[in-house]
Amino acid sequence: MFGFTTIKAFHTALQNGQTTCVEAVLFYTKAIAQNAHLNAFLEVYETEAVERAKQLDAAAANGVLAGPLHGVVVGLKDVIAHKGHTLTASSKMLGTFESVYNATVTEKLLAAGAIIIGRQNCDEFAMGSSNENSAYGPVCNAADTNKVSGGSSGGSAVAVQAGLCMISLGSDTGGSVRQPADFCGVVGIKPSYGRISRYGLIAYASSFDQIGIFSTTVEDTALVLEVIAGADEYDSTVSQRPVEPYSSAIVAPEKKYRLAYFKEALNHPSLDAAIQEQTFSFIKSMQAAGHTVEAIDFNLLEYVVPTYYVLTTAEASSNLSRYDGVRFGHRTNKVGIDLTEMYKASRSEGFGEEVKRRILLGTFVLSEGFFDAYFTKAQQVRQLLKQRTDAIFGEYDAILSPTVPSTAFTIGAKSDDPIEMFLADIYTVYPNLVGIPAISIPLFTHPNGMPFGLQLMTRSFDEMNLLQLSAQLMELKP
Ligand code: GLN
Repeated sequence: MFGFTTIKAFHTALQNGQTTCVEAVLFYTKAIAQNAHLNAFLEVYETEAVERAKQLDAAAANGVLAGPLHGVVVGLKDVIAHKGHTLTASSKMLGTFESVYNATVTEKLLAAGAIIIGRQNCDEFAMGSSNENSAYGPVCNAADTNKVSGGSSGGSAVAVQAGLCMISLGSDTGGSVRQPADFCGVVGIKPSYGRISRYGLIAYASSFDQIGIFSTTVEDTALVLEVIAGADEYDSTVSQRPVEPYSSAIVAPEKKYRLAYFKEALNHPSLDAAIQEQTFSFIKSMQAAGHTVEAIDFNLLEYVVPTYYVLTTAEASSNLSRYDGVRFGHRTNKVGIDLTEMYKASRSEGFGEEVKRRILLGTFVLSEGFFDAYFTKAQQVRQLLKQRTDAIFGEYDAILSPTVPSTAFTIGAKSDDPIEMFLADIYTVYPNLVGIPAISIPLFTHPNGMPFGLQLMTRSFDEMNLLQLSAQLMELKP
């Protein structure tokens, strides 16, 4: 029977004739059907995936692997364009919109031999931390179906957690890959700002957005990152820096790191006691393994969530203005109304509550009279955060923190309290504010039975050390 541990092991099994791409696809489509109650996938491309698997198997029979991701079964968050397939950002606003081109990451996956299995549920326009803001209902955590998956890339996280695909791609503006990865006990990475092309990614907040990867191992993350990162003539915001050979250099057990953690983060009143205790005890294991881990002051921590929500809502209000029922998106059926009423009705009907809240907030912080107090101030804080971060990386190789202050909560428990939901993003928004890469690795199990992770961060474009350190620390898993 088909089983999956790593892409490398899958390729060995393929080469030894122990499995086929068709078998892999059928295994996952069956698993998706059996786990439909998790609501991770909005659409499954079974026929197409089997067809592609047959072609890949035929090529492999002649000894040709299509590329480093030959036969790798991948799911895409419903914000990544896939030519000829529906793309909705889990919003009624986009309804039955069909992509007319592939995102660059989609192109790169396909060119490397991957098989795209389906489109994954998420918070509407990637706004949320629980996947409860999807127009298509929440995603359930496979460890406890009464609990949220996390968000916004909840479907993508649960798909990997529950073994419904090998790899998922999500997007991360303030934690949307790392936070659900933490809640679901999988690996989730948000690379540096500018490491991966965003051509074909539905924009939320453009100076924060990055595409990220979910997988079960750091090794697979490294391989997929190597494939999808790099310069792109369709996205001039991507760095021209060469992509390092992450997958072949990932094992570096002799390297000892200098890590810092923020005192304010590990002693934060919102941090769950068991998460705090297990993180401190893991720090001891790291020190015993020869790494230096030191506490440092970071008096800007309380500003990160407000700064993030001022800046991202401002950018969102601009990015989402295109969905007006004329250029893009749902148009009201109301008749006998003038142009302004038509825009208003279309946007009111098409967007969900959370998206409306953010558009209103964003328009408010940008409006004349409030601009300096909110938007300009938040930009100044962002600058301070950058300066402080540069200073920290002058002395340390990496920063660690919990990924989230609590484990996955019960569906519905926080949906009436947006502020509480925002505040729980305290650890994940910081890397996006300063553009550095960050990963959540699944190290721990809470006494309540739910998984949780550790977040690691390195200098911009130092994904190599981020992955090498992560691989080492996975070996110390308690
Ligand atoms: N939870 C954060 C928010 O709601 C992060 C979302 C994201 O990274 N897309 O904005």
